[in-house]
Amino acid sequence: MIKAIINANIYGSDFHNIVYDEQSIIYIGDDISKFKLDETIDACKMSVYPGFYDSHMHLLGYGFYLANLDLKDCRSFEDIRSLIMTRADDEKYPWIIARGFNEDKLAEKRLITKAELDEICADKPICLTRCCGHIMICNTKALQRSGFENDVDADGYVVNMETGLVSENAIEDVKAAWPLENVKSISEYIMLACKKCNEYGITAVGSDDFISITSEYDEVLEAFEKLAYQQKLTLRVNEQAHFNTIEDFQRFLHDGYTYDVGNDYFRIGPLKLIMDGSLGARTAYLSKNYHDDPKTKGFSCLSKKELEAFMSLAQYYNMPFAIHVIGDKALDMVLDTYDKVKIKDNILPNGLVHVQITRKDQLERIIENKLHCYIQSIFIDYDGTILRQRVGSLADHSYAFKTLYENTNVSNGSDCPVEMPDVIKGIDKAVNRRDANGQLLNEEEALTVKQAIDSFTINGYKISLEDNDKGKIAVGYKPDFVILDQNLETIPKDKIADTKVIMTIFDGEVVYDRYQNR
Ligand SMILES: [Zn+2]
Repeated sequence: MIKAIINANIYGSDFHNIVYDEQSIIYIGDDISKFKLDETIDACKMSVYPGFYDSHMHLLGYGFYLANLDLKDCRSFEDIRSLIMTRADDEKYPWIIARGFNEDKLAEKRLITKAELDEICADKPICLTRCCGHIMICNTKALQRSGFENDVDADGYVVNMETGLVSENAIEDVKAAWPLENVKSISEYIMLACKKCNEYGITAVGSDDFISITSEYDEVLEAFEKLAYQQKLTLRVNEQAHFNTIEDFQRFLHDGYTYDVGNDYFRIGPLKLIMDGSLGARTAYLSKNYHDDPKTKGFSCLSKKELEAFMSLAQYYNMPFAIHVIGDKALDMVLDTYDKVKIKDNILPNGLVHVQITRKDQLERIIENKLHCYIQSIFIDYDGTILRQRVGSLADHSYAFKTLYENTNVSNGSDCPVEMPDVIKGIDKAVNRRDANGQLLNEEEALTVKQAIDSFTINGYKISLEDNDKGKIAVGYKPDFVILDQNLETIPKDKIADTKVIMTIFDGEVVYDRYQNR
């Protein structure tokens, strides 16, 4: 099948037509008369970009979130209560699992408590995960089912029997008690998420899934491999392999898996590690006490010893790392450990995920080590409203996207389901740097429109040695496209946010059509 998009503004080209088959782009130019076309899409002068790449998110977690209760729009405990009630008497749901609340957006301005959840429903386990994924509130039944009996208040593992608050690594123990998932249900969640991502123009993701809803990775891996083999995925997945224990990571390596193993649909990416929590939950690990809670600095989820063990094993097996760091102290730990374990002249694309609270000296070290940065410009929306109040002067050189972009490789993403995988919003935030209240956040760190687009397309693929035919509209490249109703490069910057995704094409097939879905 020979296909064409005609009449288009093509990103990175002065021509207006693209001819492609299922494998690749065959021709870009103005004379398409020599091709016998089976299908033609008239772009009506709209703009075509390479399909978007969300370089850090949780595809399976997103699908699971879509299938469970979504608390994102809750503005009060009453809103939360009415959502929970929709499942309280439904036998299909032995657990009530919900995600997405943010207490800063609730009228009560505080976390809901165990007692309040018990009042809503006491005979089913309920657990509500905060939008950031680093805090969970359980009712009595959920605490019991998870095997908790006493308070624990250790770094990286918190259970409070009184309030029902569970955080960081303790969340894994709640997940382990959830109804068992199998390859079939996992595949369904993945497909649900793929479809939604296509609506945002996404055709590739860097995704951390192995232990996002299960405590073992085997079935998740099997589900992805099956879907990839059957060519059912409607986007490309670069798996950010995340493990509960070093033993699991060793088993994975001994089974023959390592970096770049896979195909064009599902490929093993870097080793994912989580160093600290989130800024919103005050669990990001800072070098100073929190400005708005002087009792805490946050904490690290991995000890120095654990971090070093994971990092050295990864280096030894030629697997790059992608480490979640939000607070500057967590970043110190990673940079120091990297200095210790790094192999000279190593060309592995090692990287940092989030890289939010940074000091000037740290930016220099990141650049010197050429670490890849997986940023989330969309976080500016909420984080900008709390940043100064949380971290005080540590905000000065934070969210330093431009400094990083111009000196090392930066790719962008949403960390979905923390935020929705809304690439247009991500581009708007990267370029305009305005938070939800309209305040500017370190304006000098704004990306240009082209930098922002590239951070969501070609740059994501740069971490893989195998993906050198994706992320660009050029002959020989994969036919993955997104058609937008506006030309991002010519419209006024304050109009970027109004841009709409009209069509998404993956492997030459239309996977989302705005007007067909109406
Ligand atoms: Zn994440």
